[in-house]
Amino acid sequence: MLMLLIYALTVIPLSLLLIYKAQGLNQLQSQVNSLKKSLDDMDEQAKLIVRTDMELNKLQEELDKKIVGLYALQRLSRIISMTLEEEQIFKRIQPEYLSDLGFEKAFGFLWDDTKKQFILHFCLGYSDDETKEIQLFINNNKERCLNFITSEKTLSSISESNNLITPQQLSDIFKAHAFIVSPLAPQKDNRGLIFVGTKNVEMLVTEGDEELIKILATQLAQALENARLFEKTWRAQQELEKKVTERTHELTVAMEEVKKISARKTNFVSSVSHELRTPLTSVKGYAAILLTGKLGELPKEVRERLEKINRHSDELVHMVNDLLDISRIESGKVTMKTEICNLREITSKAEDLLSGQLKERKLSLNIEIPPEANLVMADRTQIERVFINLIGNAMKFTPAEGKITIHARKTEKMAEVNVSDTGCGIPEEAQEAIFEEFYRVDNAINQEVKGTGLGLSLVKYIVEAHGGKIWVKSKVSLGSTFSFTLPQTS
Ligand code: ADP
Repeated sequence: MLMLLIYALTVIPLSLLLIYKAQGLNQLQSQVNSLKKSLDDMDEQAKLIVRTDMELNKLQEELDKKIVGLYALQRLSRIISMTLEEEQIFKRIQPEYLSDLGFEKAFGFLWDDTKKQFILHFCLGYSDDETKEIQLFINNNKERCLNFITSEKTLSSISESNNLITPQQLSDIFKAHAFIVSPLAPQKDNRGLIFVGTKNVEMLVTEGDEELIKILATQLAQALENARLFEKTWRAQQELEKKVTERTHELTVAMEEVKKISARKTNFVSSVSHELRTPLTSVKGYAAILLTGKLGELPKEVRERLEKINRHSDELVHMVNDLLDISRIESGKVTMKTEICNLREITSKAEDLLSGQLKERKLSLNIEIPPEANLVMADRTQIERVFINLIGNAMKFTPAEGKITIHARKTEKMAEVNVSDTGCGIPEEAQEAIFEEFYRVDNAINQEVKGTGLGLSLVKYIVEAHGGKIWVKSKVSLGSTFSFTLPQTS
């Protein structure tokens, strides 16, 4: 019994203790397990961090490379776009820009359509013999190269082989471990290609590198295009300048010739008119003496003939005088003696002079000259002739009951005088020619009334010698307005 009691008192608590410990162990085990799992997780995460860090470093490196490349490209682009000479564009591709892009070898070819071959425009990083080999290779493979240019795609050491040219082939021929070839302006006149490469085995061409070289090729093509356009424009301008100089010279020679002829004509007209005046005066004088009857009574027929001679002589003297005046003004022998002239006075003097004829032809003359346009700087005698001629013409070409008006107005610096009539008018096509010497419109009045066609040219010469202008506005059957300007008094 005692034994049983001792047993119960020792075994049971021990068993209970054991059970309790076992439970504790289990708990510890599960804690260990979860710790182990956490450690594993942490290990995985550490590995992930390292991997990500490596990738980030790689990306950073690539980014750095790209930035350096972009800077180099930007400097290169600027420097090649700063020249407009084709050869200079290629010469500006210097080794330092290439090395910033990660390459030390480069060359560029342009297709010459006349020679039907590729011409080397720049070559860096190759010996003379290597350069010759490259030239030979490119021209031996013209068709493939032209097809490559048309494909508009870059080719590099990481490109997949296609049936045009294999990267491995190019790598051997161009002695470059890594390289990029890019077409130049495939659609334009300046078709070509550029190559960049390196022997550096660590250099791995990326898509970004290909993109950069493609941009460089576009910039080069643009610079070439600009240079050619400039060259074209420059040539055209030179051609134009040459032509302008030639034409100017021709014109100067022609002008000199015209001046000489005109001077000769003026001299001729003036001397002939002079020579004509003396015999004419004699003819007129003798006719006048005979008409007086002092040399004997004249039969009616003879008198009539003599009167005709007298009239025609008058007309001839008039014409010769006009011709002489024109040639004198034209040659500058007559200078205008300008003074302050009163237009109202001049026109009323002309009105007085012509009043008999105005009455006879039943024409009214109305003069409207406001004070502000009344005073002009002119040669009085010459301006009187202008009015006599213009009013005389208006009378000649206006039927009875018609109206003639003289109106003046002030413009900015000049006085403008208008002589209007309600006469037969002048056809548009003749309105310029009437100011030329001897020109007369072919109309009924002119067939009946004699004239020389010199009056308006004389008027024009006088007005222009004053620094003024003369023009006409006219409508057939309605009338004409002759306008001229004269300088006003200051
Ligand atoms: P002429 O009067 O001696 O013929 P002008 O030089 O004065 O020479 O005029 C040239 C021509 O201009 C005239 O023949 C005439 O045909 C035309 N002409 C000039 N003035 C007028 C006018 N007021 N109305 C219509 N025609 C005119």
